[in-house]
Amino acid sequence: MTDPLLGFSPTLFARRRDEILRRLGRGAMILPAAPILHRYGNSELPYRPDAELFYVCGFREPDALLLLRGHADEERVILFVRDRDPEAERWGGGRLGPEGAREVTGIETVLSRSELQERLPNLVRDTDRLHHRLGIHPEVDRWVVEALRSARIGGGKEGMGPRGVTDPGEILDELRLRKDPAEVEAIRDAARFTMESFRAAIPHVGPGVGEWEVQAALEGEFRRRGGGAPAFSTIVGSGPNACTLHYVENDRRMADGELLLMDAGAEWRLYGGDVTRTIPVGGRFSPEQRELYQVVEGARRRVVELARPGVSLQSLHREAVRCLVTGMVALGILEGEPEELIEEEAHRRYFPHRTSHWLGLETHDPGDYMVRGEERLLEPGMVFTVEPGLYLPGYGPDPLPAGARPWADLGIRIEDDVLVTESGCELLTGELPTDLDGVEALAEG
Ligand code: CA
Repeated sequence: MTDPLLGFSPTLFARRRDEILRRLGRGAMILPAAPILHRYGNSELPYRPDAELFYVCGFREPDALLLLRGHADEERVILFVRDRDPEAERWGGGRLGPEGAREVTGIETVLSRSELQERLPNLVRDTDRLHHRLGIHPEVDRWVVEALRSARIGGGKEGMGPRGVTDPGEILDELRLRKDPAEVEAIRDAARFTMESFRAAIPHVGPGVGEWEVQAALEGEFRRRGGGAPAFSTIVGSGPNACTLHYVENDRRMADGELLLMDAGAEWRLYGGDVTRTIPVGGRFSPEQRELYQVVEGARRRVVELARPGVSLQSLHREAVRCLVTGMVALGILEGEPEELIEEEAHRRYFPHRTSHWLGLETHDPGDYMVRGEERLLEPGMVFTVEPGLYLPGYGPDPLPAGARPWADLGIRIEDDVLVTESGCELLTGELPTDLDGVEALAEG
């Protein structure tokens, strides 16, 4: 896709900036582009555009900085970008330059990055608060500290200047939590590409196949559909590897009778899907695998049933835990009263993560889960994952209790992406089966 704004309209970004300026009052927000990261030496990792900068202006090049000046009457939005440079562009690819960036983003004041250091102190002098994330860009941090210092010295005489620093997330996270229709469309497509890629990759699963081959099939499908890099490191874990939550080596050959856990997401227009399916390597679940799978699937189904405006992710998590613990007691993995076991957090040994996270421009999209000490309630437009799991590693320093041993080395997670609607929720990844028969049918191709 060659459109610099990835198909999003400049007016969408302008509307977001207006809302941010309104919320800033007399504050100013500084949004530098994400830094370029290196694998080693001077070998750059593929650049991932900054989610916040993109959300606010659609600009995707590194070394940019957007300044929003709530205190100002004019030039309330200023974008600094890299200059055109024939030599640098020969190696690193084309740049828009200030003129091109003005045209593309519709922001009137776009200046050369080279002017930033000199102009920034004056541009934030009359603001009362700086919204800036400390600890990422040492150079910008120094300017911010200097602005605070000179305001402290000069402010007594002039009665102005920033007196504090706030994380931009305080405003931006709240906006990003509620997806607008254009974002929902992008996430819906990312979810669809992810499902289609799972469908294409799952028939590659089989005894003797390398986890890496399934990973290659999945990621190949993402790219074939025109998506970007995977939204996060793909997990293809067979047998005991399914119990390692962030397993990304994907270098083992799978064997008949094992389960394969696949957790991956296509990225599309910078928005990502995030899906997990657990597949029987030989095409059929064993009786023990079926029993454990049903417990996880029951929890997933229950959470999706309950997801609607007005409930919290914490309450959905509690419901998932209740389903998993009840199921584990029935199987003999846990012994005792479900309520007491939950109280003691006995489930955490087998279900150590949360059931949900927000999803959007980032796989773990920002947004507070608690608001002023209360659980945040879901609202239409919020997008999150539902991903209960059970993991019973047979390895490690802490041997499984006797009742759990029939399920040793099984790891099962089932993950869907969910959009909150006015009356309930929409399962964005519902076309990829999660039920036992449906998954076996997928595995058989
Ligand atoms: Ca995931």
